[in-house]
Amino acid sequence: MTASQGLLPGATLGVLGGGQLGRMFVSAARTMGYSTVVLDPDKNSPAGLIADQHICCDYQDQDGLLQMAALCDAVTIEFENIPADSLKLLEQKIFVAPSSDVMEIAQNRGREKNYAREAGLKTAEFETLYAVDDIEKAANIAGFPAILKLSSLGYDGKGQAIVNSIEDVKEKFVEFGSVECVLEQKLDLKKEVSVILGRNAGGDVSVFPVAENAHVNGILHTSTVPANIADEISEKAQQQAIALANAMNYVGVLTVEFFITDDNELVFNEMAPRTHNSGHYTLDATVTSQFEQQVRILCDLPAGDARLTSPVVMVNMLGDLWPVKWNAILDQANIKLHLYGKQDARPGRKMGHYNVLAETAEQAFEIAEATFDRLA
Ligand code: ADP
Ligand code: MG
Repeated sequence: MTASQGLLPGATLGVLGGGQLGRMFVSAARTMGYSTVVLDPDKNSPAGLIADQHICCDYQDQDGLLQMAALCDAVTIEFENIPADSLKLLEQKIFVAPSSDVMEIAQNRGREKNYAREAGLKTAEFETLYAVDDIEKAANIAGFPAILKLSSLGYDGKGQAIVNSIEDVKEKFVEFGSVECVLEQKLDLKKEVSVILGRNAGGDVSVFPVAENAHVNGILHTSTVPANIADEISEKAQQQAIALANAMNYVGVLTVEFFITDDNELVFNEMAPRTHNSGHYTLDATVTSQFEQQVRILCDLPAGDARLTSPVVMVNMLGDLWPVKWNAILDQANIKLHLYGKQDARPGRKMGHYNVLAETAEQAFEIAEATFDRLA
């Protein structure tokens, strides 16, 4: 169904997926006076714990989905691997953003890269592999070193391997279960950045400032804004993200990850059809957060102002840090703590984050790292 124009406070908004992104969506929606429904199979899901209603079932459960459609005025997602058929079922009954069509593009690495190319964005050389027989041709295209990535369901660097020879690719491909993968050229990266934008049903786009992202062990560690890159690259990244959103007729919040290579080239890496970890700085450092933007777009309201109000560094808090020395954060006036309500602090599990606000991004970064060193 198409957007119901201007869903007002009092309406009910649903989210498929109950992780931290869903929790922060629910929080933004509640702040603005909407009722909320979460569908997630985990009875202790971070979003389910704070929603008005939690439908506790699988994403394919027809009864659960129909219950959600009956309760909600509009539905969004916080997890990109929601089966497209579930979204299609909901779309027959209520407005869903992003749509099942764009979700299907974003769920597959080869498809999203081809889409990005068609929209004029540069990607690393790559080829999709379906069987061992495809490896030689793909290796000719990607060259070595290369990265073998599962086409779907990979995240935080999981389902990826660096490969240096055809034998390597064969070994990893079989290890990955001989399922569809992409083999892509490994680039020399100077930086990684991301762009988050909101695009409504009328095609109006509002784009957040570019975030510069640093990873540790494949997991995002910090996002720094403003990014320390030339203005022209920053503007180009924003323009390319907009071009991609327009090409897909995207409605919702979209994240686009880019590489900046050693030769200063801007290269599309991947997109996420949702809010993103690298956008958590918007909770404290832009006029409107990515989650409020998600609410606004879902309700077909005008976008909120995405302007930066302070330089900021976001630091992820993984379970490895537990037990945390909380005062390292709480004693400081310009650090904002966000926790996701997860009980088990397992290594690598995203438990929360903090945003450091300062006069400059450099100062924020120094405080962020010094604080991080005092946490564990
Ligand atoms: P995920 O879904 O796990 O985020 P990505 O494709 O973003 O998967 O890859 C994870 C990380 O691996 C990237 O953030 C980047 O640091 C590195 N990486 C991925 N692809 C390439 C590439 N083609 N060249 C160099 N580094 C890469
Ligand atoms: Mg990524």
